Amino acid sequence: MSALRELYQEVILDHNKSPRNFGRMADATRKVEGYNPLCGDHYTVYVRLEGDIIKDVRFEGTGCAISKASASVMSAAVKGKTKAEAEMLFRSFHKVVTGVADPMKHVEELGKLAAFSGVSEFPARVKCATLAWHTLHSALESKTTVVSTEKD
Ligand code: ZN
Repeated sequence: MSALRELYQEVILDHNKSPRNFGRMADATRKVEGYNPLCGDHYTVYVRLEGDIIKDVRFEGTGCAISKASASVMSAAVKGKTKAEAEMLFRSFHKVVTGVADPMKHVEELGKLAAFSGVSEFPARVKCATLAWHTLHSALESKTTVVSTEKD
């Protein structure tokens, strides 16, 4: 587990300092806001879907280091994946951060996402780590939230 702990520190620091895919997306086909009032994390997740493929993901907003790093790693992990693949990844990620599954069994599938298994010891932080994923999930499910560059 100590390797995961090191990875946790490294991933949180790195992705918090320089979040990947951070900022708005002009040609998003889905846009959903996610809010975690317990911590004050507040993000907007943008998705550009082409058929079933997540062609691009971006996010913007503010929150704690864990929520921001998680959103950053999530965006990098699901880009280019199908909706079903992204949902599957979310399920594994959720199991690992809630301590239901052994992170070592999911390391290969989750990559850097496995680092977040460290939050399973801190139930309050689980919501920080999963916020971006829940937001992505609604974005993928939503059939009405079509973003127009003419609005907003
Ligand atoms: Zn938070």
